[in-house]
Amino acid sequence: MPNDTPAESETTRTTLSNVISCLSDYDPDALPVPDAQTIIRQFIQPINAVEKVAIRSALDRVLAADIVSPINVPSHDNSAMDGYAFRGSDLQKEHDLPLKIVGTAYAGRAYEGSVASGECVRIMTGAVMPVECDTVIPQEFTRDENEQGVTIPAGVVRTGDNRRLKGEDLAIGTPALQKGRILRPADLGLLASLGIGEVPVQRRLRVAFFSTGDELRSIGETLDEGCVYDSNRYTLHGMLTRLGCDIVDMGVIKDDPAALEAAFRTACENADAIITSGGVSVGAADYTKQMMAELGDVTFWKIGMRPGRPMAFGKIQSHGKEAYLFGLPGNPVAVMVTFYFLARQALLHMMGASAVEAPPMMRVVSKAAIRKRPGRTEYQRGILSINSEGIQEVRITGSQGSGVLRSMSEANCMVVLEHDRAEVQAGDLVNVILFEGLI
Ligand code: AMP
Ligand code: MG
Repeated sequence: MPNDTPAESETTRTTLSNVISCLSDYDPDALPVPDAQTIIRQFIQPINAVEKVAIRSALDRVLAADIVSPINVPSHDNSAMDGYAFRGSDLQKEHDLPLKIVGTAYAGRAYEGSVASGECVRIMTGAVMPVECDTVIPQEFTRDENEQGVTIPAGVVRTGDNRRLKGEDLAIGTPALQKGRILRPADLGLLASLGIGEVPVQRRLRVAFFSTGDELRSIGETLDEGCVYDSNRYTLHGMLTRLGCDIVDMGVIKDDPAALEAAFRTACENADAIITSGGVSVGAADYTKQMMAELGDVTFWKIGMRPGRPMAFGKIQSHGKEAYLFGLPGNPVAVMVTFYFLARQALLHMMGASAVEAPPMMRVVSKAAIRKRPGRTEYQRGILSINSEGIQEVRITGSQGSGVLRSMSEANCMVVLEHDRAEVQAGDLVNVILFEGLI
């Protein structure tokens, strides 16, 4: 399945050095976050392989074709209220209007007769409007209601009120959903309202990942002196699953050239993208960087960001297959931050998603001062809350160390302090990205 893309020939033509040469002032040892994002964005190509799925299975998938409405929604003019349908031309400004009831229209069972001037039809919400009628008065606004007739008090409705027009939601032939959209619950309902049971979506992205480091132990193993449990594979599992990827968890790989080469080759031959953690920092006494460089077109960066300075990016090849590579740093918070701000958008773009812009940012008051140096983007873990005056404010979680995963777990948002920003004073506005959204 992986590497089966029509866009393949195109991807092999794009080399990293081509992309990088378009950037002025490129310095891999002091790369601003926006530049790293630009290079990644330009190098990555969508996978472009389509499958048809039932709409229930299409949730969170990327739509692979425009959907045009095959019908009018609603298909007829109908009533928005329970009440009485009549001719709006019967209304007179200052006089009550007595009407004779000539029949009833139910949702799904129309009134087939005609309605003359001075007459009305009892009508239910969603029932088709009788042809001669253009106005509905809600039942609760009427007076003197009995079996034979009802009175419409002067001034409570105007012609055309409480009528839903044919095609008002969506007219036949108009675009309902666009290619590249990540389908949400409302979209599933919209497709159902058009009678569409199956849609073409991009196939899921296959992402392989592993952790590197001799000090890492997996759950269930003894934690020897100086060792830590591997947590990165679990945060990556969570983040990739949320993004809708098919994942291949390859475990912990020791700092050993043969083991690393085998892992990179297996990952490359079985996935569209590879994410590793650890082994990319300066002076690291391991073979991760060496193996990445040997197997492909990979560049090593020191990004102007905190946490998450070192990172490798590129594409590697093995036995005619290729895969994009994101070599994330080892520190647990750095892994999450580089994933969210550098890898996420790239993966969405590979998935064929069209709106791959950064997540929405809010400007919020900082409760306290925050230390910040210009020249790097900082991603501080924050807690957004509402103060006693009902105003939103943010404070950062205690320790902001890049190894302190608790800071991510306690936080409900990321405070993004931009590249040129200096010291934040209490009361200053800062940019915040919420972890959780409604949909
Ligand atoms: P490295 O980038 O390999 O030098 O790792 C930086 C720091 O992150 C070291 O303290 C590692 O022990 C830690 N680290 C690396 N990988 C993991 C992992 N998978 N889980 C938890 N900590 C890790
Ligand atoms: Mg390491």
